[in-house]
Amino acid sequence: MPESELSLKSMLIGDQWIAQESGAFDSVNPATGTVNFRISGATQAEIDLAVDTAGRAVRQPAWRDMLPHARAALLRRMADGIDANAEVLARLQMIENGKVWSECKAQVASAAATFRYYAGVCETLCAEVTPPRGNYLSMTRYDPYGVVLAITPWNSPLTMEAQKVAPALAAGNAVILKPSEVTSSPALELGRIALEAGLPPGILNIVTGLGARVGGPLVQHPGVRMVSFTGGTATGRAIAHAAAEKLMPVALELGGKSPHIVFADADQDAAIDAVIGGIFEGSGQSCVAGSRLYVQQSIAQSFIERLAARAGSLRVDLPDAERAQMGPIASFGQRERIEGMVEAARRDGAQVLLGGARPGDERLARGAFYLPTILAGLKPDATVVREEIFGPVLCALTFEDEDDLIAQANDSVYGLASGVWTVDYRRAWRIAQRLEAGSVWINTYKQLSISTPFGGFKQSGIGREKGITGMRLYQQSKGIYFGM
Ligand code: NAD
Repeated sequence: MPESELSLKSMLIGDQWIAQESGAFDSVNPATGTVNFRISGATQAEIDLAVDTAGRAVRQPAWRDMLPHARAALLRRMADGIDANAEVLARLQMIENGKVWSECKAQVASAAATFRYYAGVCETLCAEVTPPRGNYLSMTRYDPYGVVLAITPWNSPLTMEAQKVAPALAAGNAVILKPSEVTSSPALELGRIALEAGLPPGILNIVTGLGARVGGPLVQHPGVRMVSFTGGTATGRAIAHAAAEKLMPVALELGGKSPHIVFADADQDAAIDAVIGGIFEGSGQSCVAGSRLYVQQSIAQSFIERLAARAGSLRVDLPDAERAQMGPIASFGQRERIEGMVEAARRDGAQVLLGGARPGDERLARGAFYLPTILAGLKPDATVVREEIFGPVLCALTFEDEDDLIAQANDSVYGLASGVWTVDYRRAWRIAQRLEAGSVWINTYKQLSISTPFGGFKQSGIGREKGITGMRLYQQSKGIYFGM
């Protein structure tokens, strides 16, 4: 469709859909290079309006005094709305970030499940009566912050949005959601679903726009009381600086460079499948991607050869193709970055065991595709070993023994996730204790449960999402004393 015929998608503030051309931008399909939509971009006027609207809505008795079971019922209706609109939501994600259809569908189902989980938490989480030290009754209750800002990335937009919006609403806040400019549409759809479910207007606002122009001013706004951010480490650091000026709490889910470890005694077939899924699913654009492979030296050569052969048969295709296993990179800019990093590694002497190029298939030539890539012969201080690539690029490395492995695996500024393959449960336990990572998977990889807290060590983040902790993130405790 020619750009002039594209209608401008509006943002949601209160119950108003507001079109704003002056900061507008294109949503591009990375599988085809065509423009999907034009999306409104907030100016300072919409930013101020959103914060003011959310601030007024959160103080309304209708929301402030809503009993937990009624709030839970609302969250369940939102979950039902997500299920009822599953095809639309999955398709919007697919045409904006290029994930394969089956994964898009699974992520929509998981977003609905997240709303149901926090409905349960909302209804059952208790305040506490604390032991008195005198003639009084003392208790701790948990208050919302007020206006919470949620900023999300493009790789799994709806998953991240559900993980922030559901607990923040369950906790009694109003939310301003600023989705990534690459994937604004699923968030806008979520806003519509929330209104239809009966969420009071202003309790969930979707403010679209570019990061620096809209995300930055929202973080700095005096009316915003807490920020929950998922994205790159550099952006997280900038947000933490701005939050420090306001002395505002932040939750940061940031990047990773996760080690995936295979001992000589491992079930090698299962490990190969997991290593492939761990790095190539979602074209490697996952914060927990197992991007550093460490194989014990005695099996390294044969293991890596078999791995490369199996990864070479992955089907890279249009995301809605029936048997597609890997779609495109989410944007052309991101593919350029990945290509630049692989070329630099090549110049530094890396061996390219697999991929390292765009696919030759003519049908894919207009999209931002890149082949599954395995690099070897790398020095531990090579940029590709140290920096997050956020693409389908695996660095294959080796280790001698447990001490050597731990030294290499922990030699990273990141600490998000890790995986260990061994049949020796004592060793698995020792390694799990020594790894500096927020998640350790043993004889499995990328298993995630909404009830288990998730987050990063070191520069991979601050705070934990999911589970009960993930709701407490959006509350502040208050001690109340009744004199007796
Ligand atoms: P990004 O940091 O570029 O952008 C994330 C969001 O921040 C976007 O909405 C963007 O518009 C906004 N933003 C950008 N600059 C801003 C600023 N100055 N102030 C406020 N907001 C700003 O990240 P991305 O490229 O969208 O996502 C990829 C990154 O996200 C990777 O590093 C990945 O590891 C990370 N990630 C982490 C997790 C996790 O749970 N730890 C999950 C998914 C992705």
